Amino acid sequence: MPIRKSWIEAANNPEGNFPLNNLPYGIFLDENGTGHPCVAIGDQVLDIGLLEAEGVIAVADGPVFDVPFINRFMEKGPAAWAALRARLTSLLAEGGSDGLRGNVPLRQAALMPMATVRMGMPFVVAEYTDFYAGRNHARNVGTMLRGPENALPPNWLHIPIGYNGRASTVVVSGTGIHRPNGQLKGPADTVPRFGPCKQLDIELEMGAVVGTANTMGQPVSVAEADEMIFGYVILNDWSARDIQAWEYQPLGPFQAKVFASTISPWVVTGAALNPFRTATPEREKELLPYLHEPGPMLYDINLEVGLAPEGGAESIISRTNYDRMYYSSAQQLAHHASGGCRMRVGDLLGSGTISGPGVNERGTLLEITWAGKHPITLEDGQTRTFLEDGDTVTLRGQARGDGYRIGFGTCAGKILPAVRYP
Ligand code: MN
Repeated sequence: MPIRKSWIEAANNPEGNFPLNNLPYGIFLDENGTGHPCVAIGDQVLDIGLLEAEGVIAVADGPVFDVPFINRFMEKGPAAWAALRARLTSLLAEGGSDGLRGNVPLRQAALMPMATVRMGMPFVVAEYTDFYAGRNHARNVGTMLRGPENALPPNWLHIPIGYNGRASTVVVSGTGIHRPNGQLKGPADTVPRFGPCKQLDIELEMGAVVGTANTMGQPVSVAEADEMIFGYVILNDWSARDIQAWEYQPLGPFQAKVFASTISPWVVTGAALNPFRTATPEREKELLPYLHEPGPMLYDINLEVGLAPEGGAESIISRTNYDRMYYSSAQQLAHHASGGCRMRVGDLLGSGTISGPGVNERGTLLEITWAGKHPITLEDGQTRTFLEDGDTVTLRGQARGDGYRIGFGTCAGKILPAVRYP
């Protein structure tokens, strides 16, 4: 599918992130800090709450955009999503409906330069589950922990392994992240101590945003799960490796993961990503029937990780692609509901760390530096094993189509010093 031309000139830039083909949903903050639903188009942000209030757009059984989150719209389901996408496309297309372009006062009030607006959390995160579904990541981490022969746990090729995280500390790009304090016990220590994490890390992931719920006790097929997913964000699942190493057995990560997870400000819809669908890799072990995918459910999305020290230039420390995953988000969602769990509107599913096979394609510092054994050198000559205070990590993602790109905006966070204990 080629680029759809818009009368907003910047949306037609083939290198831009927000052509008319994209139309991701977000929340912009006004001068009082109040959030309003919007879509991105070219270099502009379009206030869809205002368009709805003026009757230029409508969602059945609305209004849905008079609240500072998009959950109310998401819960209306795939038919409503498709209808609004068609209406917005028509309003913004070259030669389309004149309902916005021809209404100069409304146009001036509803469109704002993206560079001048601050973005808030796009949706209320109902619950957050994170997975461990990247083959290269699981092999790398397993090799470090258990040796290459036992790198993959025996269940890994059969189950998309996950754990329940915290929705309360999912934050939008640009939010500062305090280095967590926690219990630490190194291999040479006889007793644990409490203090700032020394092995602060990132996890490069995609996040699937669940748009419609299922009923408790009622599982969903992979095909149904795919339709329940409203869209995707880029996710940094910040991780405290030294806290994790001491606490994780037998129930998995806890304090090592709950202090923060950062998402990109725009939810890119399944509709926008549809041309970029790609299949999960060939199965090494046949999956149980409830996990079979009826079609391609991963996406070809280029990803990169930038690391900038305080006041310094950014270095790109990893480049990879979402198509590296072994399990798709639809499979993870179907698995999550398979025992009767109710999935809610606004649930966030972390894909699991995305690592490619190469050294420069890894999605954590743990893997890039091989648990700190091989420090990396940044553009300005500084070296890193794990993150230092003042470092800013920026994740970016782009699907590259025929003469256009689908971007997510940046997923960035700066490391602030640990909070002091008295
Ligand atoms: Mn993770």
